[in-house]
Amino acid sequence: MKRTKIVDIFNPELIGSDVCVKGWVRTRRGNKNVQFVALNDGSTIKNIQIVFDLTKFSEEELKPITTGASIHVDGKLVESQGKGQTAEIQAEKLEIYGTADPNEYPLQKKGHTLEFLREKAHLRPRTNTFSAVLRVRNALAFAIHKFFNEKGFVYLNTPLITSSDCEGAGAMFQVTTLNLNDLPKTEDGKVDYSKDFFGKPASLTVSGQLEGELGATALGAIYTFGPTFRAENSNTPRHLSEFWMIEPEMAFYDITDNMELAEEFIKYCISYALEHAKDDIEFLSNMYDKELIDRLKSVINTEFVRLTYTEGVKILEESGHKFEFPVFWGADLQSEHERFLVEEHFKKPVILTDYPKEIKAFYMKQNTDGKTVRAMDVLFPKIGEIIGGSEREESYEKLSKRIEELNIPMKDMWWYLDTRRFGTVPHSGFGLGFERLVLFVTGMTNIRDVIPFPRTPNNCEF
Ligand code: ATP
Ligand code: MN
Repeated sequence: MKRTKIVDIFNPELIGSDVCVKGWVRTRRGNKNVQFVALNDGSTIKNIQIVFDLTKFSEEELKPITTGASIHVDGKLVESQGKGQTAEIQAEKLEIYGTADPNEYPLQKKGHTLEFLREKAHLRPRTNTFSAVLRVRNALAFAIHKFFNEKGFVYLNTPLITSSDCEGAGAMFQVTTLNLNDLPKTEDGKVDYSKDFFGKPASLTVSGQLEGELGATALGAIYTFGPTFRAENSNTPRHLSEFWMIEPEMAFYDITDNMELAEEFIKYCISYALEHAKDDIEFLSNMYDKELIDRLKSVINTEFVRLTYTEGVKILEESGHKFEFPVFWGADLQSEHERFLVEEHFKKPVILTDYPKEIKAFYMKQNTDGKTVRAMDVLFPKIGEIIGGSEREESYEKLSKRIEELNIPMKDMWWYLDTRRFGTVPHSGFGLGFERLVLFVTGMTNIRDVIPFPRTPNNCEF
């Protein structure tokens, strides 16, 4: 008999028919006459209840069906007597694929802490919480591709290994095949990278933006969606060493077009998840965050506040609120500042623009005041910065001058400057941290719980 996925089994038309299900046992309970097994196959948050009549199955036969075991059951789908479920299966035939020794299988009881589950990251997708998070993550990934595809953006794959050390977004992981215990040296005692794999130093990318700009100034509008690596030693609930980033880049967009796109994009993704991962979001809301669904809906239905950095700092300074980090014009805003603006002051998402040039990257378009650049960060409740972007400096002269001022080693970046030398155009783009979006939509509070296998300082297990 053909297998039916559990997500499809609650179809009323199937009542009365013979079905085949396969999955992993969540629980077994019952008495001498009848045993109930809750089975899950990962296709939905819902379990199907399987009823074993002990006149048809021996206790001995059912004994290996413990939490975590994998089984195949054929039987009749009937309306359920029990509350909380619409259908159940009366088992006719049982096949056990694999047992899970109750003394060894770590996911025995409900209510393991998220910290405990992080140490069992290889098995935690078998829990309700993580399977729900991973399905929401999947829905969001699909929504992202759908959104850009519908808008005619080209999905561009930018390299993960790069030889430029001036991407500017953060500390980089080096990539090398040199023997670290016996490094080749040049005459002046430095590492001889001409002997390394690429003949020069190489690293993992911190952002695909610079190559994205090459794509945008040829194809009109592109987006990337891929892994990004940052070797910052920041042990926070919002930073990973390896995370996924979405980076659209658009020719002929100014900062206002850029903000409009960012707002439309993020609302689209949240709406898509609410519609297509409803059961999972409801489950997560019930378990962890009763206000989750209201918060998601309110973001979709509200216009984001647009505010300059200068105005934002003024609000913070005048708030009388005591922050851990001082706030003054020129300071890089901390998450506590961002969240104050969003959660306390405006009570809605904020797009902060026109930051001091000193705290932003070299490629951002310079404003005529000589002090600020056309940056835009989208700040979200519970998260802080979810998107960072800007209009880009399209003037070759201004860009080169800024690069010189900052002493950025640009000798390997001639190709980037060529975008400004040949047919330069106004253009803009932004980066959305995928896991920050998943955090927001799932209501989880630690970024380690929204990626299957988190990488953070001192943690590279599984
Ligand atoms: P933050 O100030 O929060 O460290 P950033 O300013 O370094 O972020 P950008 O370089 O602007 O971040 O990167 C674009 C987006 O990527 C951010 O808005 C955020 O959503 C995400 N992001 C940045 N760093 C990380 C990280 N270490 N882990 C997960 N997501 C990140
Ligand atoms: Mn940023």
